[in-house]
Amino acid sequence: NEVLIEVKNLKKYFPVKMGLGKKGYIKAVDDVSFFIKKGETLGLVGESGCGKSTTGRTIIRLYEPTSGQIIFKGEDITKKDMLPYRKSMQMIFQDPYASLNPRMTVGDIIGEPLEIHNIAKGNEKKERVQELLRLVGLNSEHANRYPHEFSGGQRQRIGIARALAVEPEFIICDEPISALDVSIQAQIVNMLEDLQQQLGLTYLFIAHDLSMVKHISSRVGVMYLGKLVELAESNELYSNPLHPYTQALLSAIPIPDPKISKERTRIILEGDVPSPLNPPTGCRFRTRCRYAFDRCKEEEPVLKDVGCGHYVACHLMDRK
Ligand code: SF4
Ligand code: MG
Repeated sequence: NEVLIEVKNLKKYFPVKMGLGKKGYIKAVDDVSFFIKKGETLGLVGESGCGKSTTGRTIIRLYEPTSGQIIFKGEDITKKDMLPYRKSMQMIFQDPYASLNPRMTVGDIIGEPLEIHNIAKGNEKKERVQELLRLVGLNSEHANRYPHEFSGGQRQRIGIARALAVEPEFIICDEPISALDVSIQAQIVNMLEDLQQQLGLTYLFIAHDLSMVKHISSRVGVMYLGKLVELAESNELYSNPLHPYTQALLSAIPIPDPKISKERTRIILEGDVPSPLNPPTGCRFRTRCRYAFDRCKEEEPVLKDVGCGHYVACHLMDRK
């Protein structure tokens, strides 16, 4: 498969006032590179504040990148006017309710992008909205109702229908299931997978928990304090996590298969995530890493391919 979107050395720093006229920077995304192939789902996980949402928003230029490149279908769009690309790239949010105008009917909410992008109006728009509602498993009569009349899962379906209205190729799903009941989560994930098959969509699927992206992702990237620390094919990452942070995240997930008798020992991460305003020198994970050694304080580990597209940023890899 061809690469649909690629980011190279992406950085997003937010300036903050430090007092006494000094300025600091929150290094929310700090030199992150990856690509996503057409039709695949790249999962992106990490604790809150690790920069995963900022990465998503910067890719579609809801935030302007501080530096680095964004390449969409072979074209460098880092500094381009985004208007022509807005149709190709859409976003689904964690809290659909916050992004749905409570005074607009569902039909108007889904139909709005059709008008903004001159795709359809009048009766054609109406028919298209009904089609979109059916596509996400809702009823065409729902068009006349208001967001508050729907459950959380249904509202997420409405948000997805609106994102699909402009027929995008690439969708950033920013924790689309985190706020939903566990019983609803699987339904939404299954629907996103069906839609991907049907419409040839490419996803960046952001979540704070590795268990949420396991099912849907072809590959998974793990972020810590603005850095990508590990990236691999899903199966590889879950069966052979190599970064100490990924190992800790995975150890927190119960193994669903009773045939796997090997007890996974839960690794408790000590301490809090350090401030992205003043991250530790060398490896940013070293203050919580049980394997940290001298070199980790002095030298920042770079993301390296350890074989078969499995990338790890950890000095331990050089000891093998
Ligand atoms: Fe731990 Fe050092 Fe590897 Fe960082 S580089 S994850 S501190 S062993
Ligand atoms: Mg977030």
